[in-house]
Amino acid sequence: MKPSALPAELSDTARAYAVGPHDHLIAGERRGPAAGRTFTTLDPSSGLPIAEVAHGGAEDVDRAVGAARFALEGEWGAMTAPARAARIHRLADLVEEHADELAELEALDNGKPVGLARVIDVRLTVEHLRYFAGWPTKITGQTIPVATPGMHVYTRREPVGVCAQIVPWNFPLLMAAWKVAPALAAGCTVVLKPAEQTPLTALRLGDLAVEAGFPDGTLNVVTGEGDTGALLVEHPGVDKIAFTGSTAVGREIGGKAGRALKRVTLELGGKSPNIVLPDADLDAAIGGSFQAIYYNTGQVCSAGSRLYVHRDQFDEVVSALAQAAGAARVGRGLAQGTQLGPVVSAEQRERVRGYIESGKSEGAELVAGGGVDGGGDGGYFIEPTLFTATSDELTIAREEIFGPVLVALPYGDLEEVARRANDTEYGLAAGVWTRDVGAAHRLAGMLRAGSVYVNAWGMSDAAAPFGGFKASGIGREHGAAGLDAYLEDKTVWVNTG
Ligand code: NAP
Ligand code: MG
Repeated sequence: MKPSALPAELSDTARAYAVGPHDHLIAGERRGPAAGRTFTTLDPSSGLPIAEVAHGGAEDVDRAVGAARFALEGEWGAMTAPARAARIHRLADLVEEHADELAELEALDNGKPVGLARVIDVRLTVEHLRYFAGWPTKITGQTIPVATPGMHVYTRREPVGVCAQIVPWNFPLLMAAWKVAPALAAGCTVVLKPAEQTPLTALRLGDLAVEAGFPDGTLNVVTGEGDTGALLVEHPGVDKIAFTGSTAVGREIGGKAGRALKRVTLELGGKSPNIVLPDADLDAAIGGSFQAIYYNTGQVCSAGSRLYVHRDQFDEVVSALAQAAGAARVGRGLAQGTQLGPVVSAEQRERVRGYIESGKSEGAELVAGGGVDGGGDGGYFIEPTLFTATSDELTIAREEIFGPVLVALPYGDLEEVARRANDTEYGLAAGVWTRDVGAAHRLAGMLRAGSVYVNAWGMSDAAAPFGGFKASGIGREHGAAGLDAYLEDKTVWVNTG
């Protein structure tokens, strides 16, 4: 493969890393795939290859799980809480020092605009690590006042153990940080499996963890495809599985975890309703609704992909959104001025194209975009697309598209819109735009979703719990709830005589 296939904008540092080799990180060392198999990671902005990456087979997974167990029962498990905290802080500092390189690698591998990768993905990764670096010294048990005389009873909060963490391609580095940070804070060890489309920044994070002084095997990174993830899920040495991705794969993993009685947290898909009440600040609602669906080219689990607007404001809101969608700059992730990068893969482009076709054939009205491949250059470009419809039964109004496709639907009153908003198998996020404080809180209570945004969308903070109701997942990430998912309670009874 010719290095010249890489975009001209890449810095020498990012270029030197991108070309590889990209072996697994196991027990603090880069190791080639035991079976010699590799796969190619592509640049979604051009469709051209970036590099070959190790494909993890059974032997690689077994070695990585073994290394994680060794660290858990050895140096990492024995480390004091302040020493664990110091390592996580050091990792945060190293991510910050390498912020430009990581942002470029993310833009290259995923296709997202490099400026956004820098100010969102990398910055939030640093914040996430710093937040969880504060936890190790604050994980405490309790003393319990029991009925039996002469008993001293207390609880210990112990790490769950070896964690398999499987992440998707939409925010590769940030999703890795969301998984790794609480696990390390709790004292667990990790085998991380990034998505096949975007393995580069997870591997780079692993290198930085080695540099930060984590004992060998504390954080292992095994690259590969879905079968690699399945091997990891099924490995008997894994105590806990944390997964972010599609609801279909999440169901499968949940089933396997249930049978093996492994701990599991799942962060899955969504079809999140975004509601504009008649008294809303329409400029704010229009700008926020645009970002809610088109940010990251719609490849966001909490994307606001169903827009409910009161029938009196419907035409005004739709025409403003159509205008903004028409003016958005779609382009390569590393090109200056890009607002929407390509979608991540040809497969994803075809999936989204299928939904656009279904919208047209089922009778939705296309009011903006709809073009696939409009940007040329061989990249996986899709125009920001807006449909209007009157029925919630259309496929595009029910299924997660995971692309820049919005369906806007008119409604009449608050009870009606709450009922329609909740009529979905998902429950990840929901939003309300209004100046009416009472209506905002009433709706926040009525909407069945893990996060409700009022006059905002997609806010995220390491301290604020995030996760799904219903088919959008099990468990919460971030905050104390996110940490709890990596801890076991142990009750100790001491007969003091
Ligand atoms: P996916 O298959 O669920 O992939 C997510 C992660 O799981 C990847 O690391 C994937 O590996 C791995 N994986 C796949 N099959 C597995 C299995 N049987 N056991 C264990 N791990 C497995 O998602 P996708 O196919 O990339 O995307 C499909 C759809 O999922 C999207 O269109 C979107 O609707 C949804 N999605 C949701 C989120 C979210 O944040 N909730 C994120 C991404 C995608 P490989 O990628 O290497 O195969
Ligand atoms: Mg890629």
